[in-house]
Amino acid sequence: MESALPPFDAPAPDRTDADPASPGSPQPDVYDRPIPLELIDADAVKVLRRLTRAGHQAYLVGGGVRDLLLGRAPKDFDVATSARPNEVRSLFRNCRIIGRRFRLAHILFGGGKVIEVATFRRNPAMEAPEETDSEVIDDLLIRSDNVFGDAHEDALRRDFTINALFYDLDRRQVLDWCGGMSDVQSRTIHTIGDPMVRFREDPIRVLRAIKFAARLDLGIAPDVYDAMVATREDLAKAARPRVFEEILRLLRGGAAHRSMWLLWETGGMAVLLPELAAFLDDEEATDGGAARFFRKMDAVDAMTRTRGRPLDDMVLWTVLLKEPLDEACAGERDRIRAATDFLDPVIERVAVPRRIADGVRRIVAILPRLTAGRSGRFGRSDLMAPALDVLEAEMLASGKDVEAVHKLRAVELGGGRPASTRPPAGAHRDVRGHRDRRA
Ligand code: ATP
Ligand code: MG
Repeated sequence: MESALPPFDAPAPDRTDADPASPGSPQPDVYDRPIPLELIDADAVKVLRRLTRAGHQAYLVGGGVRDLLLGRAPKDFDVATSARPNEVRSLFRNCRIIGRRFRLAHILFGGGKVIEVATFRRNPAMEAPEETDSEVIDDLLIRSDNVFGDAHEDALRRDFTINALFYDLDRRQVLDWCGGMSDVQSRTIHTIGDPMVRFREDPIRVLRAIKFAARLDLGIAPDVYDAMVATREDLAKAARPRVFEEILRLLRGGAAHRSMWLLWETGGMAVLLPELAAFLDDEEATDGGAARFFRKMDAVDAMTRTRGRPLDDMVLWTVLLKEPLDEACAGERDRIRAATDFLDPVIERVAVPRRIADGVRRIVAILPRLTAGRSGRFGRSDLMAPALDVLEAEMLASGKDVEAVHKLRAVELGGGRPASTRPPAGAHRDVRGHRDRRA
């Protein structure tokens, strides 16, 4: 997964005179930092070249640039451009315009690959007049997504400095308006601007900070960490489907252990999954429950690494909730009822789709019989594959030999192959270990 890009050690910019197309805007620091062409997706290169040849500005942006500079293989390659969506469409036959609030161009390539092309935009929230009443500010915020801007503004609207670097393919230079390059070098997460403001603007950024710290093995700047803790209650106001998706991303990236530990430590877990946080907090009553839980997260990471792809969403949610769920069901006559009572508020709070919630409930119910080799009719259901993955994670976590699970899989599903072979949409593949949490 590591790319061939050599490490660099000169944070001093080579020049500050790029971006002649926007002479009035603040100029970026410019780094001559050629990224070997073979590390950049060939279709992304095509898109960038066609846009610049047509006279537009176009840069590789976001996670792709960040990951390449950190020496990792990017998950996707996003493009930002001065071209308006209609202009982008006129240049590409295989182009679809998506989004209502902010229109993006998706350029479609073979194998389902999509290169996302976004017109530069700015964050008008930053310009909200001070002397207006809150109604006007709310109104401004509602329309905030849909304001085009220039490259500089587009960089500054982003969340973290390491996510705001623009790569100019023709000049082989990195443009940096906010110190992202030195943060890449020191492997530290800094927000662009005041962290309290940026987390209040969009609480999902707290989860994104955790994801990057855990997955990319980065430190979190102390003021950013403190702001994450201070604004954690705002997570309750975030759009619930985004929370659901972002929790999955924390679990999928091969760093579930560190992600969940940071989520717990910052207090974000107490807001989003208080059932789990309370369980982890109660060392006494759970008899080492936290240690068991984190061993399961290790098992998830190990399985993700071995398979080279994330586990199924249903498997991830089951393993995540299994410890407190078992506790809630212990000693209950009607275990299905107890599981339902436990899960209902979770489903409500983080918008878990019915299909997944039902799957979690049924897998938890069948697991004891599975362990005893009595799967019965369940063995032929769609849930058998995810249930076996959950069982494998449980056995791994408790240090048991997982050979029995492989055998069961071979008997029930045919072939000893692990069950979840399809990567979920949007899943990332980079996997790595842990490090200390703070810079
Ligand atoms: P990943 O490798 O997980 O895809 P990413 O940084 O590419 O990480 P995306 O969700 O793909 O994350 O977003 C692409 C870019 O859009 C980010 O790098 C960042 O610059 C910007 N961005 C995404 N989400 C936000 C947000 N909530 N607030 C501000 N900027 C954001
Ligand atoms: Mg991305």
